[in-house]
Amino acid sequence: MTSATYIGRFAPSPTGPLHFGSLVCALASFLDARHQAGRWLVRIEDIDPPREISGATTTILRQLSDHGLTWDGELLYQSTRTEAYREAIAALQSAHLAYSCDCPRQRINSLGGIYDGYCRQRTVIENPAIRLQVPSESKAREPEATIKFDDLIMGHYIQNLCSEIGDFIIQRRDQLFSYQLAVVVDDRFQNISHIIRGADLIDSTPRQIYLQECLESLSGKHPAPTGSPLTSSPLTYGHLPMAINAEGQKLSKQNHAAALVAGKESQNLWLALQWLGQQPPDQLKNESISRILDWAISNWSLNAIPKQLAMPAPSHY
Ligand code: GLU
Repeated sequence: MTSATYIGRFAPSPTGPLHFGSLVCALASFLDARHQAGRWLVRIEDIDPPREISGATTTILRQLSDHGLTWDGELLYQSTRTEAYREAIAALQSAHLAYSCDCPRQRINSLGGIYDGYCRQRTVIENPAIRLQVPSESKAREPEATIKFDDLIMGHYIQNLCSEIGDFIIQRRDQLFSYQLAVVVDDRFQNISHIIRGADLIDSTPRQIYLQECLESLSGKHPAPTGSPLTSSPLTYGHLPMAINAEGQKLSKQNHAAALVAGKESQNLWLALQWLGQQPPDQLKNESISRILDWAISNWSLNAIPKQLAMPAPSHY
């Protein structure tokens, strides 16, 4: 039986093979979906060609299959979605929720990284980036600048977009679409209901909730964002601890995180379950991946996941 309402997803960027940290995210989102008889989708976030590694998508998909993490339906490639992103930006601009900006990075750095809205009132700007306007300074003490959500793992999270983030980029000056825009357009397109991902993205979530509300208001499904309290989201979020190396850095290609080794799938799954606080029995370690996943789906507990933003990855995986 499939739950009609639960649709989860894993959304890797093809910047390198899966490592322990990305396996944990894939596994946790898969188990949470399957435990609730939901669907689990895979979306390839290939919207930043300069950061992509050729062959990474094939490797990631093979690694997922080798670990028994089989997705439902068709894969979605963000590189095929540029028309939808363009339309979303055009609609946001027509509604005066987004505007062109050509401020150089040095200027934004000199502001401490939080954009001051300098280009909001300017009109003709060549080769612009596009920014989404967050509720303005004068409203900063009112509820609409504050986004709150109850994270399934980390608990209550609150962020003031105006004072902590500022108007943010949805399309870069090199015309590439931002992660924030693409992820929101596609989560809506795919009717995603649950997002289980790494805590490195928790501070992006309020921006994404706000952007969803802007797009919902344009489609007439929600009142305009200014003037309505932004306190809830149609999506449910759970942010997992980030796997870090001995130096305290998030595992990534840049700091040479080891890729998962083919042939050690059962051990990888067992280690990931243990890391996620699921207390897999020792004798499961040498079982087949399908026996391990069956156990993990039945025994899955979000409450058992440590409520920490970061935890060291196992030294050997
Ligand atoms: N593509 C993003 C990444 O690989 C994850 C996006 C998301 O889960 O929202 O870090």
